[in-house]
Amino acid sequence: MKDARPNFPLPLSSTTGGARKPGTPAPVFTPQTATRNAASGSKAPPEAGPAARAPGYVPAATGAPTAQRSDLAATEAVRRAMVTRIARQGVNDPQVLRAMEIVPRHLFLEPAMSGQAYVDASLPIGHQQTMSQPYIVARMIDMMCAGRKLERVLEIGTGCGYQAAVLSFVAKDVYSIERIKALHELAKTNLRPMRISNLRLQYGDGMLGLPQVAPFDGIILAAAGLDVPRALLEQLAIGAHLVAPVGAEVQHLHRITRTGKAEWTSETLEACHFVPLRPGTI
Ligand code: SAH
Repeated sequence: MKDARPNFPLPLSSTTGGARKPGTPAPVFTPQTATRNAASGSKAPPEAGPAARAPGYVPAATGAPTAQRSDLAATEAVRRAMVTRIARQGVNDPQVLRAMEIVPRHLFLEPAMSGQAYVDASLPIGHQQTMSQPYIVARMIDMMCAGRKLERVLEIGTGCGYQAAVLSFVAKDVYSIERIKALHELAKTNLRPMRISNLRLQYGDGMLGLPQVAPFDGIILAAAGLDVPRALLEQLAIGAHLVAPVGAEVQHLHRITRTGKAEWTSETLEACHFVPLRPGTI
């Protein structure tokens, strides 16, 4: 991963100006990311939210102070170490590792928590919800992609927006649904400075999916249900994978593959621990 510098493959306004299907959520951002802005010392976007003031983000309107530049270097080194750990744990797809290396996880946390961003642990994001541990984020994306660059991907449970940002580097178009309005807003605030053009956030009940955009080439659930909602199985393209935690107190990751119009197969992966999947919106 030595050469995986923040290098953004996203074409300018790649998906912002195009025709959208009716009901398709509006894109939230345009290209470039906070990391690149920080690395190049470019001006911080005026709309940058509180997350953009976390350590490592360099609002360089007046030039990046040396201390902040060394913070940035330290953050990148710590993130590379995280990726090395994830690779050692068995995630080998270079596009997934690179995405994990690009996205500044610390910018998705409250400044007081950002020091723990690169520890392999799930972390609180408010509203009794948590951001999944980095290994699990990478593992789920790896199992969903199975070595392919995907076209259209759906995430259920945007939370703080971290996993959605990682997904935006492994898929052409990413849709992410959150049922808690305050978290949907938090994710928008966190993601805005990153200017990711191929990510669309939707406030709603993810158990219903996004039928107006389906079929999806991959679906990830970031919350655990007792089973996987039928609507989501129906919105999976044939040949595509859905990865979800399933269970209550005891949970396992499942990978479901749609093998035909009315046929799905399921594999049970490792034990995990996620917040519950709940119906409706709040
Ligand atoms: N991927 C997130 C993880 C957030 S935790 C991140 O990187 O931060 C899981 C999230 O799933 C919570 O925010 C929770 O509110 C949300 N969730 C639970 N049930 C949901 C549903 N039916 N639809 C949409 N989101 C849901």
